[in-house]
Amino acid sequence: VRTLSQGIQIAIKLQEELAHPFTIDTSEGKITTSDHFITTTVGLALTSGHYIPEKGGKLLQNAEIALGQAKKKGKATIEVFDDTLGQTVWRQSRLETDLKQAISRQELYVQYQPIINLLTGKLHGFEALVRWQHPELGFVSPGEFIPIAEETGLVIPIGYWVLDRACQQLQEWQQRFPECQNLTMSVNLSGLQIKDPTLVQKVKGILEKTGLAGNQLKLELTETALIENVDLASQQLQQLKAHQIQLSIDDFGTGYSSLSYLQRFAVDALKIDQSFVSAMTPENRNLKIVQAVISLAHALDLQVIGEGIETAYQEEQLKSLGCEQGQGYYYAKPLGVVQATQLIQEEVDR
Ligand code: C2E
Ligand code: MG
Ligand code: MG
Repeated sequence: VRTLSQGIQIAIKLQEELAHPFTIDTSEGKITTSDHFITTTVGLALTSGHYIPEKGGKLLQNAEIALGQAKKKGKATIEVFDDTLGQTVWRQSRLETDLKQAISRQELYVQYQPIINLLTGKLHGFEALVRWQHPELGFVSPGEFIPIAEETGLVIPIGYWVLDRACQQLQEWQQRFPECQNLTMSVNLSGLQIKDPTLVQKVKGILEKTGLAGNQLKLELTETALIENVDLASQQLQQLKAHQIQLSIDDFGTGYSSLSYLQRFAVDALKIDQSFVSAMTPENRNLKIVQAVISLAHALDLQVIGEGIETAYQEEQLKSLGCEQGQGYYYAKPLGVVQATQLIQEEVDR
């Protein structure tokens, strides 16, 4: 093989040959004879220049990386190794390894984004958002490391660490600002935490330790996380509700959007995803969708929070549709503890 296209042609030929149905003769055994199919997934890697046998190991390794990527894409696919793929896979495995130590090395911290009561314009509470400052790679966004944390299960200890930090923080603010007893703290809960049978016990433990009342804590769950664990989820959520903990559906409208769970799970609020809010213009349908979601929510006695509000226009629209709360850069980006404390101080001084 001299060129990439020749390599791909061989891969396709292999797939075609192996795709023919074949028969396993089981006349002696109990299984009945039947036709079988297999699908073939191929990872390809090329050498630059002449093939050097000593470098064969590296070549196979690259082909395996390409194969891994091909498997991720689906059955019967072909993937070719290149430098970008190599770098992506290298970074991912590096992040995966380092994330394990991130908590104990104190590389994680929490930022707090204000949530505003749209009727009064006052501060309603905060959403806790985890951050990772990697000592060598710099700031790694949650959009990149949360999926890795989900895959490895690390999102469970990370999630409880964030919950603990955030509850402690709210408790500190309440002690410092007695006027702010009603502030709430929203914390994201991953699907794996919902599957964790010790969830209720852990949340209860953190509330007891920090002295926070259940109704000051809001847990955010995504549609996907709920749909994947229906039975356990509804049990656990009911127990959380028994402790007055509030439940919100995060990124509403972007998951399965199956309405059955709204009836099945005792949720208190819907957070309308930023993608609907940001594209709300008089000319398109997003405004209509948002309007419909808000009336649906209100018909079910649920509160609505608009996510990702960036302009006065968006706030105005949501307000006029009766949306209760808003969150977004228009009010504030996620803030460090010092800045968030300042914001509460200003609120108290007003
Ligand atoms: P999310 O829970 O939907 O959080 C809202 C995201 O929107 C945050 O991104 C926030 O910074 C961003 N955002 C807020 N207002 C605006 C705006 O006006 N414009 C734009 N463009 N963005 C805005 P972030 O912090 O990058 O977090 C991304 C996601 O990572 C979160 O989405 C959440 O699903 C996940 N995540 C963050 N912290 C945790 C955590 O502690 N546990 C778990 N399980 N997931 C977390
Ligand atoms: Mg959230
Ligand atoms: Mg969201």
